[in-house]
Amino acid sequence: MSLLAALNPPQREAAKYLDGPLLVLAGAGSGKTRVITHKIAYLIGECGYKPGSIAAITFTNKAAREMAERAAKLTQGVNTKGLIVTTFHSMGLRMLREDAKFAELKPAFSILDSADAAGIVSEILKTTDKQEIRRAVSRISLWKNELKSPAAALQTAEDDNARAYARIYDRYDATLRAYQAVDFDDLIRLPAELLDTHAELREKWQNRLRHILVDEYQDTNVAQYQLLRKLTGVRAAFTAVGDDDQAIYGWRGASADNLRQLRDDYPHLHVVKLEQNYRSTIRILKAANSLIANNPKLFDKRLWSDLGHGDPIQVMPTKDDEHEAESVVMRLLSHKFQHRTEWRDYAILYRGNYQARVFEQALRNEKVPYQLSGGQSFFDKAEIKDVIAYLRLITNSDDDPAFIRAVTTPKRGIGAATLEKLGQVAATLHVSLFEAVFSAAAASQIGERQLAPLVEFCHFINRFEERAAREPAGELLDELLKAIEYEVHLFDQDDQRAAQNKWNNVLEFAAWIAKKGEEDEKNLLQLTQTIALITFLEGREEEEPDAVRLSTLHAAKGLEFGHVFLVGVEENILPHRDAVDEGRLEEERRLMYVGVTRAKKSLTLSYCTRRKRGRETVGCDPSRFIDELGDDVRLPEKPSSADAKASGSDRLAALKAMLG
Ligand code: ATP
Ligand code: MG
Repeated sequence: MSLLAALNPPQREAAKYLDGPLLVLAGAGSGKTRVITHKIAYLIGECGYKPGSIAAITFTNKAAREMAERAAKLTQGVNTKGLIVTTFHSMGLRMLREDAKFAELKPAFSILDSADAAGIVSEILKTTDKQEIRRAVSRISLWKNELKSPAAALQTAEDDNARAYARIYDRYDATLRAYQAVDFDDLIRLPAELLDTHAELREKWQNRLRHILVDEYQDTNVAQYQLLRKLTGVRAAFTAVGDDDQAIYGWRGASADNLRQLRDDYPHLHVVKLEQNYRSTIRILKAANSLIANNPKLFDKRLWSDLGHGDPIQVMPTKDDEHEAESVVMRLLSHKFQHRTEWRDYAILYRGNYQARVFEQALRNEKVPYQLSGGQSFFDKAEIKDVIAYLRLITNSDDDPAFIRAVTTPKRGIGAATLEKLGQVAATLHVSLFEAVFSAAAASQIGERQLAPLVEFCHFINRFEERAAREPAGELLDELLKAIEYEVHLFDQDDQRAAQNKWNNVLEFAAWIAKKGEEDEKNLLQLTQTIALITFLEGREEEEPDAVRLSTLHAAKGLEFGHVFLVGVEENILPHRDAVDEGRLEEERRLMYVGVTRAKKSLTLSYCTRRKRGRETVGCDPSRFIDELGDDVRLPEKPSSADAKASGSDRLAALKAMLG
């Protein structure tokens, strides 16, 4: 039986369609992602496409991994090795690595994280004002996402203010070039530009990739769209799937206009609509439809489900954030006990990362296994960033931010005054700090005695650099940590417990590097670039096999769970206060829609009636979106005494006793 038998007729049509550009436009849970996995398997298993000639682009590394696994399973034995399933950013990195010289980069270029980017802007602006820096950084990012060069930005600037930003952008870009570094936006922008300016690269990539599939198309920005356009060329062999009602990255320059743009740019675009939802109960779907009906319609879509009415949507008012967390966890426990479900059937979703902490605490109190996604990354911890700075410097000695971090951690008796002089020498000679160390100017201006530890440091880095391409990454890293006596450094800096904690993190990181190095047969250089991307896209990769998912709404896109708790459904949170002020209510509503449509069987909303804000406690109102869900929502119970703290813990104790 054909593997496409597992699809309904319009899904099958989409999977088989190969006559030109295809857009699958459909609501949540209608099987868009399923079409992509089946189409990959169909192309390889039944149409004879070489796996390496197919690229599927998803939104997160995790989604990419899952998709690759599913597709491999579906091909029933046909080898899928070489199949590219990736994110836009990893695709860009892959291209840029291969064609680095066209962008005047060495293949070992560094990828700067957002803290490095902010640091550079702070130097240019000569300010430490976070707001000011953030404004400049996001302005630059938007320009890059529109594929605007600094010159173009300057030319089209509407006033002095914009011109000032454009000049900052220019200096920022020059600094990056000097460091042989790119930022995250460059990973899309540079490959898109290269394809634009180099016919031979266009030809190479267009010949290599015979079909490109893009999931979550509604969240692509201009640069990503242009990259896709150039990669597919006139043949335009692509399948894009998306849902305009789930466009939630407007703030990052994405635009659902790209959906309309497709029709304009590809007059022969074939559009398939899917209308059956296979995910949610009728009640959940009705609520989602009723909510999103409050937004103006871009495209007409219907969505129905035959999965039965299911339970009414519950709304839980709670007294404050701690009470909310306790009540949600308690309800989750009692639900799990009654329905004999797995932990992984549950998700707790919220608007902002900061909301996670109390839920983590409540889950830990009850020893519930949980997995945090979209949160502050493991890789953002100071001790991990210290180690990564070494890796970055070893792979790219032009990386000045990494140089400064590494050379000063642990302290090597190199003072700030010495580094400042070195900075001046480097600036005059137009070379990196690393290179400046070996210059005659440094010797004369800094003095041999002060320079000696710097020279020694650079030799030390050089020795590792020579070995990085050959030796196993894990062993090299172990050796490095010993050589710099990083453990001793941590224990010098912190009290016993904190230091041990940090050192454990470092060991975990080292183990991860060793494992990655073996599994993916990657050397330290390739791993270092991968780390930067993981940091950007989703934080740590390790998967808890059976755990409650704690996630932001943004990071929950595309996923589904049996039972969803959507928490903090309050005015000022969801919708976010800034969004209301700035007239971005519709995107907030789409975010709510994404949350609601993650649920398969049950949906519970909670909000606080009071919340701490700084030192004050303020009253909170339930979100307007709760009303917009329609009549099928079980009206808020008053914060009941059963949910209140004291009797709550009694009930919990009884419950735990039953659970054994
Ligand atoms: P989202 O918009 O949230 O990304 P989606 O449109 O990508 O949703 P999928 O995740 O592909 O939807 O599918 C939702 C669920 O429905 C999945 O569990 C999927 O396996 C199931 N499903 C989709 N199509 C079918 C089908 N034809 N038969 C059985 N199950 C299906
Ligand atoms: Mg999907």
